Amino acid sequence: MEIGQGTAELKEKLRILSDAAKYDAACTSSGVDRPGKPGTLGNASAAGICHSFASDGRCISLLKILLTNHCIYDCKYCINRRSNDVERAAFTPDEVCALTIEFYRRNYIEGLFLSSGVMKSPDHTMAQVYEVLYKLREVHQFRGYIHVKAIPGADMALIDQIGLLADRMSINLELPTAESLRSLAPHKSRQTILGPMRQIQAGIVDSRLSMGQTARLERAYGAKSFSNGIFRLGEQQRDGLGGSAGHVIDGRDLSVGQALEGYGGRRGLVRRERNEIRTYVPAGQSTQIIVGATPESDYHMMMVTQALYQKYDLKRVFFSAYVGINEDSALPAPGEKPPLLREHRLYQADWLLRFYGFRAEELLSEDKPNFNVFLDPKCDWAVRHLECFPVEINLAAYELLLRVPGIGAKSARRIIQARRMGKLDFPDLKKLGVVLKRAHYFITCGGRQMYPVKLEENRITAGLISDSQKKNWQIEHQESFRQLSLFDDMKLEIPPTVEDFHKAAAGQL
Ligand code: SF4
Repeated sequence: MEIGQGTAELKEKLRILSDAAKYDAACTSSGVDRPGKPGTLGNASAAGICHSFASDGRCISLLKILLTNHCIYDCKYCINRRSNDVERAAFTPDEVCALTIEFYRRNYIEGLFLSSGVMKSPDHTMAQVYEVLYKLREVHQFRGYIHVKAIPGADMALIDQIGLLADRMSINLELPTAESLRSLAPHKSRQTILGPMRQIQAGIVDSRLSMGQTARLERAYGAKSFSNGIFRLGEQQRDGLGGSAGHVIDGRDLSVGQALEGYGGRRGLVRRERNEIRTYVPAGQSTQIIVGATPESDYHMMMVTQALYQKYDLKRVFFSAYVGINEDSALPAPGEKPPLLREHRLYQADWLLRFYGFRAEELLSEDKPNFNVFLDPKCDWAVRHLECFPVEINLAAYELLLRVPGIGAKSARRIIQARRMGKLDFPDLKKLGVVLKRAHYFITCGGRQMYPVKLEENRITAGLISDSQKKNWQIEHQESFRQLSLFDDMKLEIPPTVEDFHKAAAGQL
């Protein structure tokens, strides 16, 4: 089927089902390196995928659609819930294939992000999704990137089959606690979400070990060796998600070491015709948590996020600010502004867990349960830990450099390399990408500060806030893909008072 022959009906379906998919944030395309080859279509190598992101950070290089927005469930937060009176449509598997192939040929997209409402049953829906992937891979020889959402409650065998064809899979946690899930999405349960998540993890482990790789996914430079980081080898914690300590794979409790050494052989690789080897979900799995629909604190969100990385080895956790579209006494009132700044703070903190060796419990606690609205989480941590500063740039270890506001992972690596050639001074740091406006409070070069500033929490905070307020304003006033109206629920255009700051520092604002 060609789109050219296609009909107004297909275009109409595309309009409805791409619009219905826009609330899903978990769609970045990364982690696969599969070149194209003669007789096949597309590739998922680094050069073949444009990592195009919208200004709000969402990936825009994939055809992002729902197979259908019909749904037998009635999740209270969802626009597509059964009880909503919205336009409904459903693609056939052939239609999804045709759209993907045509758009790929026209260079509009690099791959497909396919999610779906639950049509008839989870199994029926996942069988349709499987048909899409099977036809794309086997009939059309499509080698581009495919990210698929798994439906909670679907047959594990179907999920396994899809895992052999998809690059990335995700299953949305949706809400951080079982209680919230019961209240807003009674058709779903922790078990039907975490069960498939665990199964996908087991498949990935098996596939990686069969390929001679480590059981756990590759992580950013240094992340597995940070002394305190969440990915360090041997790290074992209770997951806080109702699971047990260690790695439970196929009902067996395994330490990371055991997983690395002893586990294997359940699913393995599928050797297909043409001698091609296909791995299981090679780009890893991700999930999405809705922010602001339920009362959980940022601390709770971050502890759950950390547990998901540690216990399920997720590639990414995405956060999606709740958009008030449905009327329900259990939800924020429709028209309330989506908590975009809060979502942004959670993404910043997630970055600190994945790339900077921080742990959730360093950033927040029961006593300080929410992020500071005025400062990003790293600055907020730094001003509360002035005993760790100043850091001498010419001597500090990589891990310590990463803790300095204004020094990112790339600039920290550049500092380590450059100081092998000679002593660094402030102009050198600027050339290496350090943001001195923030960093200068916390560093010395050759024992000297850039400006003589006392290491005092209030003074440094005041300086950092004036810098970050502009950014906060931009985040809150962005025109996002959701076409939201202006967001000003924190009223940051009004300068914060001293009282505001103290509330923010205590996590009450
Ligand atoms: S199952 Fe998915 S599509 Fe259906 S109501 Fe719930 S969130 Fe919406």
